[in-house]
Amino acid sequence: MKIMLKVENLKKHFPVRKGILRTSRGNVYAVDGVSLSVDRGETLGIVGESGCGKTTLGRTILNLYKPSSGSVSFEGNVISSMTPKELHPYRRNLQMIFQDPFDSLNPRHTVGYILEEPFIIHGLGNKHERTESVINLLNIVGLQRDSLERFPHEFSGGQRQRIGIARAIALNPKMIVCDEPVSALDVSIQSQILNLLMDLQNNLKLTYIFISHDLTVVRHVSDRVAVMYLGRIVETAGADEIYRAPIHPYTKALISAIPEPVPAISDKRIILKGNVPSPVNPPAGCYFHPRCPAARDICREEYPELKNYGKGDTEHLASCHFAEG
Ligand code: SF4
Repeated sequence: MKIMLKVENLKKHFPVRKGILRTSRGNVYAVDGVSLSVDRGETLGIVGESGCGKTTLGRTILNLYKPSSGSVSFEGNVISSMTPKELHPYRRNLQMIFQDPFDSLNPRHTVGYILEEPFIIHGLGNKHERTESVINLLNIVGLQRDSLERFPHEFSGGQRQRIGIARAIALNPKMIVCDEPVSALDVSIQSQILNLLMDLQNNLKLTYIFISHDLTVVRHVSDRVAVMYLGRIVETAGADEIYRAPIHPYTKALISAIPEPVPAISDKRIILKGNVPSPVNPPAGCYFHPRCPAARDICREEYPELKNYGKGDTEHLASCHFAEG
């Protein structure tokens, strides 16, 4: 099966509660109708500004948040409607690497226990076998054996992310959602962690969803890229294609702001007006119209569907009334 993960019209809305009675006053439309698929062995980059819903999307895909509607299928099985018990055997195949490794590692546990815990939860191996597996994991991610007895606060940010990665690969997963895995790290450390992730993908045949606000990083690691804006995907294409020939005005603006711009559009920096609107009250019509330099009347009334503008067999999806392939 080529497609490993399929997401169909996925929505995650959080109620906004106010007042002493905590009455519902609308919703935060964090993820608002996302459809995508991820092929076995590929990296799908998901990019967008802070607050666009990409982290919520990653967590909803992994069922860490229950979807409001829509579905997520993994290897043909609909996991989004499963109970925790039904989901348990799938958990080892679907893992996550978090943005801030310090927050995701229990400070009261040694690294040895943090890495042994997934084996204990899934009832795998005896104590000796688990310890051997943990030492092997440390070796794979480039940490010393003496890390076993140490605590997370004794490590640098880059080393802590290596621990987070070791935990994510402990159970030999098939897919990992990497949520801003290098954005909390110094630039000098970022490339080491990115190289580690790419080596692991090759060696362990991993499939990644790679979430980041950094287009340069996403381009470096991704086979395909999906651009998110206010809870929806506005453009998806192969990584080279989307950076060479973006279609959606939002994607064009993001790419024009890359510090080392793509030569073809390097002299056309597009400055967007204002900030991302509140996901509590998205604009009517195209969500991007209040900031779009190309907006016209229809943009304020109708949301543009995602359509394919790719040539031949190439898929290049964009949602804009005035898109041209
Ligand atoms: Fe801009 Fe209109 Fe296209 Fe939306 S539909 S991106 S507002 S031109």
